[in-house]
Amino acid sequence: MIPYGRQDIQQEDIDAVIRVLKSDFLTQGPAVQDFEQALANYCDVPYAVAVNSATSALHLACLALDLGEGDWLWTSPITFVASANCGRYCGAQVDFVDIDPLTGNLCPNALEKKLINAEQTGRLPSIVIPVHLGGQPCDMAAIKTLADRFGFRIIEDASHAIGAQYRNEHVGNCQYSDITVFSFHPVKIITTAEGGVATTRNQSLAAQMVRLRSHGITRDTDMMTHAPDGPWYYQQLELGYNYRMSDLQAALGLSQLQRLDHYIRIRQELATQYNQALKDLPLTPLQQHPDTDSAWHLYIVRLSTDKIQVSHRQVFEAMREQNIGVNLHYIPVHLQPYYQSLGFKPGDFPEAEKYYSQAISLPLYPKLTDAMHKQVVEALKNALLI
Ligand SMILES: *Cc1c(COP(=O)(O)O)cnc(C)c1O
Repeated sequence: MIPYGRQDIQQEDIDAVIRVLKSDFLTQGPAVQDFEQALANYCDVPYAVAVNSATSALHLACLALDLGEGDWLWTSPITFVASANCGRYCGAQVDFVDIDPLTGNLCPNALEKKLINAEQTGRLPSIVIPVHLGGQPCDMAAIKTLADRFGFRIIEDASHAIGAQYRNEHVGNCQYSDITVFSFHPVKIITTAEGGVATTRNQSLAAQMVRLRSHGITRDTDMMTHAPDGPWYYQQLELGYNYRMSDLQAALGLSQLQRLDHYIRIRQELATQYNQALKDLPLTPLQQHPDTDSAWHLYIVRLSTDKIQVSHRQVFEAMREQNIGVNLHYIPVHLQPYYQSLGFKPGDFPEAEKYYSQAISLPLYPKLTDAMHKQVVEALKNALLI
């Protein structure tokens, strides 16, 4: 089976992890800080806080921005459930903003309309989480303008988008957001097995996330309520978690980061080849906005279901039968039973639901060879009965 995505592990990654295994610190050592510094440099941002997953990073980001009961968090329905769940962890209520059908990203016009309504009913969100679907940045300038007008904070869920650019600058620099989150799960662009990071330009948000990832504990005497009892002393200032990244993971991440730009170039090339090979088929790749350079985590097409004799599901099954591991990103989050139990129902976000009835992610990863690429295209033609 050709999977839709997979990690690329080289000898230098293995060596980097072995060096840490033989060192004094498997966790809470120097590798985490080295990785954070390298990520901050790459993104051109002052602070990077590494944690054990993007889900944890989203949770800490919400906590640092003071999300709590009585607050609203809005995100896109076309995302992984974690982008919404982080609001629920904090006791906040979650709502969704429908997508732009062309890019699949949260639609700024739909956001503006919903904000105007929410202002009238006193239900403005405290946080909006735009998700850079497939690695293409959202229309951040438009979203930031709305944030300034309506007073909400922005967390970019850039789990797909490390290495992507928005207006020629790396995603993660937080020019248009308070905090940006990346994931290092093996299907994503670079990996630490499990892992994530939150970047920010705000020192106090960074310090809070550092504290919260390790139980809410500080060893900074300036933060303490009184002078230390002795050299062993630390204080727990608030309720935190153990969301730490280990040094093994950080060493793997730092080694992978050296190849990030190379990975992005290969992904761009593969995407261009798909565009070319698929251009006469009854489908539309997600449109790329001229302000963006996608990291191409995913290559998503929408089937022109009105122009083909087979159903979306049949195309899917025919691809899997031909050993092509296509996938669907994503099932609209509001249709998950958990969110339906909170009151959401089919029909709430029609563009997201229509997208769900047409979208397919084709295999895309650095080790996908030309032969495999051709195999995917041929399988798709078969599946579409062309
Ligand atoms: C993968 C992913 C996450 C969660 O990442 P983890 O590191 O697995 O916790 C969150 N949001 C989106 C959009 C993702 O794709």
